[in-house]
Amino acid sequence: MEKKYQSFIGLEVHIHLLTKTKVFCKCASSFGDEPNTHVCPVCMGYPGVLPSLNIEALRMGCTVARALGCRIPERTWFERKQYFYPDMPKNYQISQFASPLGQQGCLELEGKNGNQIIKKSVRIKECHLEEDAGKMIHTGTVSLLDYNRAGVSLLEIVTEPDMETGEEAELFIRQLRRMVRYLGVCDGNMEEGSLRADANVSINFPGMGLGKKVEIKNLNSSRFVKLSLNHEIERQGRILDSGGEVVQETRLWNENRDQTEAMRQKENAQDYRYFPEPDLPAFAPDAAFLERVEQSLVELPQKRISRVREEYGLSEDCAELICDEKAPADYFEEAVSAAAALGAGKKEAAGRIANWLLSDIRHILAKQGTAMSSIGALKLRPKQLAVIAALAVREKISGKNARQTLELAAQSGRDPELIVKENGWEQLTDPAKIAEAVNSVYSEEGAVFAEARAAAANPKRKRTLTAFLVGKVLAVTGGRADPKIAGEQVEKLITEG
Ligand code: ADP
Ligand code: ZN
Ligand code: MG
Repeated sequence: MEKKYQSFIGLEVHIHLLTKTKVFCKCASSFGDEPNTHVCPVCMGYPGVLPSLNIEALRMGCTVARALGCRIPERTWFERKQYFYPDMPKNYQISQFASPLGQQGCLELEGKNGNQIIKKSVRIKECHLEEDAGKMIHTGTVSLLDYNRAGVSLLEIVTEPDMETGEEAELFIRQLRRMVRYLGVCDGNMEEGSLRADANVSINFPGMGLGKKVEIKNLNSSRFVKLSLNHEIERQGRILDSGGEVVQETRLWNENRDQTEAMRQKENAQDYRYFPEPDLPAFAPDAAFLERVEQSLVELPQKRISRVREEYGLSEDCAELICDEKAPADYFEEAVSAAAALGAGKKEAAGRIANWLLSDIRHILAKQGTAMSSIGALKLRPKQLAVIAALAVREKISGKNARQTLELAAQSGRDPELIVKENGWEQLTDPAKIAEAVNSVYSEEGAVFAEARAAAANPKRKRTLTAFLVGKVLAVTGGRADPKIAGEQVEKLITEG
């Protein structure tokens, strides 16, 4: 069915850069401390003070810009954006206007969201560096101000209006979040406001170009991005359906009522009276700076997912889960390569390690209250996991014992081989010992042996019964008997009686 309206979505995403200090002063940028403890004359906007640029913020900003395929200009500088708001004591914000540090890039959306399969390029208009404002806390009839956040390094990433659905916008946020976490420049915590988005959306009759845009401010979860945009596209559709006109305005998402609500009308763009910040010199990135930026560009998530999938023969979903964060993906690859060095087949080891990582290790970490991204804190090192994987792949221990070893090694950090020895989990290969087990099964399941013998003319039935008996033998030995030897002995006993 031809769509009645075309929709256009552009995002403005703000991310807190993980610089130790604020962007124009030496105050610590930290979240959740006692209010107004990280402030100084510069970030409090006292007259006559001088800001100085935190180069680390610039490096991190440029790293994101490059990861998004943006061009870094030869010169980049700052402007003052004038407006009054109580959370901004200077009455202007130092931002970038004419020379954003990253220009004209692109992010490839790729993935599923709900029932939508999404694959499209979203153009990045620009990335610019600025300072965050403080925080207003409204309680009862008073409003309190916390300036700890005032002056914290903020990178704003602005897209062109290339998205069409809430699902695409949500995927954009998720991919961007994963990317900046990979780069180690932002923790991506939306609840704490380290990553927040303003979403712009308009609809129009097909072929008529952009419509009147509505901006939804301060979305602090990717789900709200999706919900609010889809709600807004519907609301605007109803207005056009009835012959009305959409008002260009700023709206807010009311999460309790699942709807957007008008906040302020913005008929004309506000005049911020931008002018170049006189207290900060323009910055011309030199070769050494650009080199440092390129050095910070790790293999990015989308690329890594497809490589990992190929290289280790994993399913798409599995590769995506493994590579969702950098630390577990690093852990995984280190363990697999160490297991391969121990003689285990790479893909076979990878399959097991991937499973353990996504189930056993995930559980162990969850019980300790540790995030997957802090897998480095796990006592079980990748090399130790590799030892367990190699033992399991080469059938020196059963799958069950391998997982028990993993659990114990993760608790104690002890050598897995020692754990296997202590518990007597090495595979049983002594034919005499296995024969004991086979005989004990025979004394209990003699009837099944006889039935299997009688089923000689019915190979399928015979196979089922044989497998049952071998399973019993393995169970008797606590899973330790070499299944091949056990199988041979059971077979022999069936035929020869
Ligand atoms: P403003 O000057 O109002 O800040 P910008 O041109 O800077 O507008 O764009 C801000 C964001 O709004 C960008 O992400 C852009 O893609 C998006 N945008 C601009 N115009 C429209 C429109 N008509 N419909 C949807 N999104 C739009
Ligand atoms: Zn300060
Ligand atoms: Mg703008």
